[in-house]
Amino acid sequence: EMFGQLTSGLESAWNKLKGEETLTKENIVEPMREIRRALLEADVSLPVVRRFVQAVTDQAVGVGLIPGVKPDQQLVKIVHDELVNLMGKEVSELVFAKSGPTIILLAGLQGVGKTTVCAKLAFYLKKLDKSCMLVAGDIYRPAAIDQLSILGEQVGVPVYTAGTDVKPADIAKQGLQEAKRQNVDVVIVDTAGRLQIDKAMMDELKEVKRAINPTEVLLVVDAMTGQEAAALVTTFNLEIGITGAILTKLDGDSRGGAALSVKEVAGKPIKLVGRGERLEDLEPFYPDRMAGRILGMGDVLSFVEKAQEVMRQEDAEDLQKKIMSAKFDFNDFLKQTRAVARMGSVSRVIGMIPGMGKVTPAQIREAEKNVKNMEAIIEAMTPEEREKPELLAESPTRRKRIAQNSGKTEQQVSQLVAQLFQMRVRMKNLMGMMEGGSTPALSN
Ligand code: GDP
Repeated sequence: EMFGQLTSGLESAWNKLKGEETLTKENIVEPMREIRRALLEADVSLPVVRRFVQAVTDQAVGVGLIPGVKPDQQLVKIVHDELVNLMGKEVSELVFAKSGPTIILLAGLQGVGKTTVCAKLAFYLKKLDKSCMLVAGDIYRPAAIDQLSILGEQVGVPVYTAGTDVKPADIAKQGLQEAKRQNVDVVIVDTAGRLQIDKAMMDELKEVKRAINPTEVLLVVDAMTGQEAAALVTTFNLEIGITGAILTKLDGDSRGGAALSVKEVAGKPIKLVGRGERLEDLEPFYPDRMAGRILGMGDVLSFVEKAQEVMRQEDAEDLQKKIMSAKFDFNDFLKQTRAVARMGSVSRVIGMIPGMGKVTPAQIREAEKNVKNMEAIIEAMTPEEREKPELLAESPTRRKRIAQNSGKTEQQVSQLVAQLFQMRVRMKNLMGMMEGGSTPALSN
């Protein structure tokens, strides 16, 4: 199982919370120690571990427990979300050139799987209906050129070779010309790896990069090297400038440190991952799926997500109570509109307030647009004006000043003031209805 050790290390963190009722500063200490240990054992770099543990701790004790969710389940969810953050919230897609062929330059140390990646990438792109050409730029090992030619034949893509006597930058340039002639969509340029980073390799890569101005410069790194992979990405990025990394050998018993460290350490995304020796074993890197695989607790995650959804609904009911009991000034108004905006749905809240009636989608859209205007206007009020809306009802001068400061019209300001008084009337009626049972006089 991929990252099996990390998975079971994290499991012992959840286990420390079994039987607990809440998440506190105290009872989170032991689980966090387990998480820290699991990450270090997975060879995640120390600064990354520190930041990660801090972020998870802050959320675990800072955010209240979701009703119905157990502390260990909530911790799983927090760790999941932080893992996704760590690996890059968004999927980093390959970038394609707007015109002319897309040029992908591959770099990497020897033995990391670079030649294999050339073929896998061509195979992957063919499935996306892109035509490809491989360019054999590794002139130091004649076997590498043969290997690439054989792989190209397997995939069914042309391979441009020029022997071992031409400079890699020139081979790349010629290969690109040939690709243009053949109207190929993507050119993949293989380069020579070394066992270690050395100046000659970096100089050569810089020269190749200058010669062909690639769309993507991808560093191929071996996941088995753990946090060393992240250090390599940093170095290559500083030396030649790269656009991302391809992580190979994620199958096998890699511990996870590379996948978890690269983005945070080097600031460059992992774009693709290799998970085996076959041509089809290359796929885009999906941080959320990866986090899910590491935790291996899909059902817990979806349960907590559902509970969060319910909690948001209960917030709305809470709001309803506040609306009906508050004296309801502009501060409440602001709080309310912000809460509504946060929930992303005006309709649900309005729907919950009895007497408000049905609202159409068009009205909802309008209301959501109004939220921003309201905020701007209320923010331009003095604290006194917010608490005493009467001041605004009485003074056109004040309304004029607010309109100017908020960049809205005087009419909009007047409308908002009127709206607040209407709300007050409605609420009074509602409360009368609830307390006295009499039919309210809708006097607005
Ligand atoms: P290069 O020196 O960087 O060009 O490395 P190669 O492409 O020749 O690969 C070195 C070895 O790693 C070969 O035996 C490949 O089959 C193997 N390899 C490459 N990618 C993967 C992978 O994702 N998983 C596994 N298990 N092996 C891989």
